[in-house]
Amino acid sequence: MKLSTRSKEYIIPEYSLTGDLLSFLTCNLQYRYQNKGNLPPSMPIQLWFGEFIHGVMEEAYLKWNNLSDEEKKDFKWDWERDIKPIEDIITKRLKVKGLNPPINYTENYGPKENMYSARVDRSIKIWGPHLFPLIEDAEVLIKGIRDMPKDNEGHSRSEYYSINGVIDVLSSVKLDEIYSIENDFNGDNEKSKNTFKQTTLDSFFVIDSCDIDNVRDKSSKKSGNKILEYLANNEEFKTILENLEDDEYEIIIDYKGMRRPSAPNKNDIDKNNIHLLNEDSNDENSLEDYKTWIQHEWQILTYAWLRSMQEDAKPVICGIIFYLNELVPSTEDLLLIREDLENNKTDIPRQSIPKDWEILKNWDENGPKAIHDDLSKKFKMDRSIRIINIKEDLIDDSLLEFDEVVNQIESSMIRELNGSKIKEAWNANAEQRTCNACDFSTFCNKKDLEENTNENSNEEDNKPVFSVP
Ligand code: SF4
Repeated sequence: MKLSTRSKEYIIPEYSLTGDLLSFLTCNLQYRYQNKGNLPPSMPIQLWFGEFIHGVMEEAYLKWNNLSDEEKKDFKWDWERDIKPIEDIITKRLKVKGLNPPINYTENYGPKENMYSARVDRSIKIWGPHLFPLIEDAEVLIKGIRDMPKDNEGHSRSEYYSINGVIDVLSSVKLDEIYSIENDFNGDNEKSKNTFKQTTLDSFFVIDSCDIDNVRDKSSKKSGNKILEYLANNEEFKTILENLEDDEYEIIIDYKGMRRPSAPNKNDIDKNNIHLLNEDSNDENSLEDYKTWIQHEWQILTYAWLRSMQEDAKPVICGIIFYLNELVPSTEDLLLIREDLENNKTDIPRQSIPKDWEILKNWDENGPKAIHDDLSKKFKMDRSIRIINIKEDLIDDSLLEFDEVVNQIESSMIRELNGSKIKEAWNANAEQRTCNACDFSTFCNKKDLEENTNENSNEEDNKPVFSVP
């Protein structure tokens, strides 16, 4: 009897949208050391905080979802009693993965002492009451297969690659079922206190379309839900909803432990014809300036595509990203926010936030006074929520962009497998701020690193101490 031989092992490389593709785009070489080298860095603060805030928000939702209706409505969470245990669970989970919290976190206790706990506290208390009642499914794994792009010489490790991500999903059915819950955003919602009112996104729009200015107020009093209000005031979203043929739809959610990235203002888009997904801008620098902003749009569009292939999925009409550092911006964040406002590199212009702009403009960053508390809650919320509407024609573009990123990763990997040194096979190409926080900077070959590090170490010395508002 002839025994059949074992077939050759067939590998389908798997790529996570955030863990691999966006991480590779931040710096190719850092990605290689962190993800492919089994070298967990000692203190990758940004990586740790990104995973930490994501985990905490998921766990907080699960805790909230297990409460009684009455407890859900009465969203009075105390950090010590309700939030700290969640932080402890997530901290332990991340330690198992080799992600240790920064010293600032372990040595300072509670949201008054360390900004990481302060951000967690504000994220849950500010967005939780509006977001949690809208969530239909949390931590949904989405996965898809694509043809593997070939490198310049026509090589590839495999015929296909797999792409994945994890999202929270809001559904229109859920929106039809949920009840508004008490919140204190306007401090003027007596009517909604202690009552359960049914509210739907559709009904919100019916009212809103009559008289946008009046209705904004009425609607916020009616529903009390700030996320519905942000959606209702997004013209592009309203058009998509009006033209939607299906009865049901979905909205996907992602959290980022970072500030709102620099973004093109409306004039920039008109003048330079920046198509956010194609390199057909008249101004070559534009894409570089808004790289992170654009990449997040690709991510949401790709998530929408992945979600569309799941059996139970409804059409995804938009994605929402929460930039949670905006709720408690660090001194460095505030300097960059001010710079963006000064240079008009933001989608939330100075004219729309005159009082907050005045505070930022007159702020002496070297002075003793922290200004976090002076900035309005609306300013922080406006900057922390980003609505990305899904347009079918842009999904294909975003997939091609990520194919190209996979191609670059695979090409670097093949170069290394063929004998190139790591530093030759992978580009050291990060922004200076990334290098400053990188554990591999001591042996990285980025040419101008030493010079810039010296410059920045002076900046570090001069930086005012962060104080939690
Ligand atoms: S120091 Fe900068 S260029 Fe070098 S690996 Fe780290 S992030 Fe990349």
